[in-house]
Amino acid sequence: MNLASWVERHGRRFADAPALASGERVHSDWATFAARTASVANGLRDDLGLSPGDRVAILMRNRPEYLEAMFAAWHAGLVAVPVNARLHRDEVGYILDHSATSVVITDDDHADDAAALVDDVEVLREVVVAPGERWDRLTSASALTLVDRAPDHAAWLFYTSGTTGRPKGATLTHRNLLMMSLSYHADIDPVAPGDCVLHAAPISHGSGLYGLPHVAKGACSVVPESGGADPTEIATLLDRWSGMSFFAAPIMVKRLAADATFASANLEHLKTIIYGGAPMYLADLEAALEALGPRLAQIYGQGETPMTITALSKADHGDRDHPRWRERLASVGPARTDVEVRVVDGVGRQLPTGEVGEVVVRGDVVMAGYWDQPDATAEALAGGWLHTGDVGSFDDDGYLTLRDRSKDLIISGGMNVYPREVEEVLLRHRGVGAVSVVGRPDEEWGESIVAFVVAADGERAPSVDELDATCLDHIARFKRPKDYRFVDSLPTNNYGKVVKRELREQLVTESGT
Ligand code: AMP
Repeated sequence: MNLASWVERHGRRFADAPALASGERVHSDWATFAARTASVANGLRDDLGLSPGDRVAILMRNRPEYLEAMFAAWHAGLVAVPVNARLHRDEVGYILDHSATSVVITDDDHADDAAALVDDVEVLREVVVAPGERWDRLTSASALTLVDRAPDHAAWLFYTSGTTGRPKGATLTHRNLLMMSLSYHADIDPVAPGDCVLHAAPISHGSGLYGLPHVAKGACSVVPESGGADPTEIATLLDRWSGMSFFAAPIMVKRLAADATFASANLEHLKTIIYGGAPMYLADLEAALEALGPRLAQIYGQGETPMTITALSKADHGDRDHPRWRERLASVGPARTDVEVRVVDGVGRQLPTGEVGEVVVRGDVVMAGYWDQPDATAEALAGGWLHTGDVGSFDDDGYLTLRDRSKDLIISGGMNVYPREVEEVLLRHRGVGAVSVVGRPDEEWGESIVAFVVAADGERAPSVDELDATCLDHIARFKRPKDYRFVDSLPTNNYGKVVKRELREQLVTESGT
C-alpha cells in the first residue's frame, strides 16, 4: 500500500475538514491537500523527470508545504529524503550525494544553500522553492493517478542524527511506516478526525514520523508559524485547536513544564505530548507530570525502527498508586505491540530478566537496511535482529529500563558505571540545570568519571562538595565523579541530543593522551 492513499482517500471523505494549518489559519482542507498532492506528483514526474524509486529531498523548515512535498513524492512513487533544515550546507551535501538525490524541494531560507549544492553534488540537478513560482505551477498541474507501491518499496530515507560520525540513511519502507502508524494507534492513542498533530519539532525527524498516524486517521497537521516549540505560541494554538498531540524531545518537555504561560494554557485541548529520543530524567518527568497532568507518553525508538521499540503509556504515567510507579517512570515501558524486544549478551544470547545487555528488536517496523551501506546493514541486522547499541534490562513485568548507549558506558577500576545513573542523581540537586557524565582515559583506573554541569537558571551554582554529597547519598562511592566541570551549556546536535563524543574529545585533548 502506498502511504499517500490516506490523503487521496480523505480528500473525498473529509473534503471540507482542515487537513493542514499554519498556526491558527487553515492552509488547506483535505480536498485541496489531496488535489495539490496529486498535481505536484505529476509535476515531479513530468516537469522534473523523476521516475518511481528516485529520491527527492526536502530541505525546509517546518511548514505546510513540507507535508505536501512528502505526500506528493509518495503519490508519485518516489522516495522522500527529509533533511534536517539546521544542518550545515556540507552536511546536507553529504546526504544528497550519498542518497543520489537529483531534486531538492526547499524554502526561501535554504534556497541559496540548495542552489550552491547543485555545483557541488554531481547528481543534484534541480531545486524547487516552495512556496514560489515553480512550486505554484506544480501545485496547479493536472492530477497524477496514485502510483502503486509494494510494502517493501522504500518511502523515507531517514538519515540518523549522527552523534557518532557520518549519518547513515535508514531505509524505511511503506510497510515500516504503516506498522509504525498502526502501533501508535494501538499503544499510544487512537486518533480521530477533529484531532490535530502539532509539529513543534523537526518534521524531518520524530515529529514527521508521528505525524503519519495522524494523517492516516484524518487529523489536522498544524505547523506553528515559528516552526518550533515556543511555549506562548503553543498556548495560543491550544485555544484554536483541540485534541492536540505533539512530539517533543525531553528537554522541550522540561522547558514547557517550567513555563508559566504554558502551564496556564487551555490544557483541556492538549491530548498527548509524546516524548522520547533521549533520556528523560526522573526529576524532570515528575515536575512535568505535576505541571501538565497525565498527558505524557514516552516512546523509545530509533530511526532504524521508527519510533517503535517500547512505550510508557499515559496510563502508566498516571498510575500513581502502583507500588512500582517511580521505577516505571524511570523505565521506557514494555515492548510495543508489533515488535519483539530482547536483551542479549555479546554473542546474541537472550539474557534473563534483570540482566543488563544490548537491546535488540525484530518486527515489520524494522528498516530494510542502511541505504547503500551493505556492511553497516549486515552488522546492524545480524541474525535478523536490529542491534540498537542501547544497553538495558527488563524487569519482571516486562518494563525495559535503559542504561546508556553501549559506547557511553564507563569502565572505571573494572566496574561498569552507567552515566545516566549518575546524571539522574546529580539532577536531584536543585542547582543543577543540565548534566552530562563521560569517561576520561585514566592510567590507573582505565577511565575516570567526569561530570559536565550546567547551573540551573536562577539558582546558586552548586559546589563540588554539595554535588559529591548528593552522589554519596544515593549511589555507590565508585560512581561519584572524580572531576566536575562547570560549563554554560552542553554540546548538542541538531536534534538537541547531547554529543558526548565532543566532551570526551575535549578531555582527551586536555590530557594530551
Ligand atoms: P535517533 O535514531 O536519532 O532517533 O536516536 C535513537 C536513540 O535515541 C536510541 O537508540 C536511544 O539511544 C535514544 N533514545 C530514544 N528514545 C529514548 C528514550 N525514550 N529514552 C532514552 N533514550 C532514548
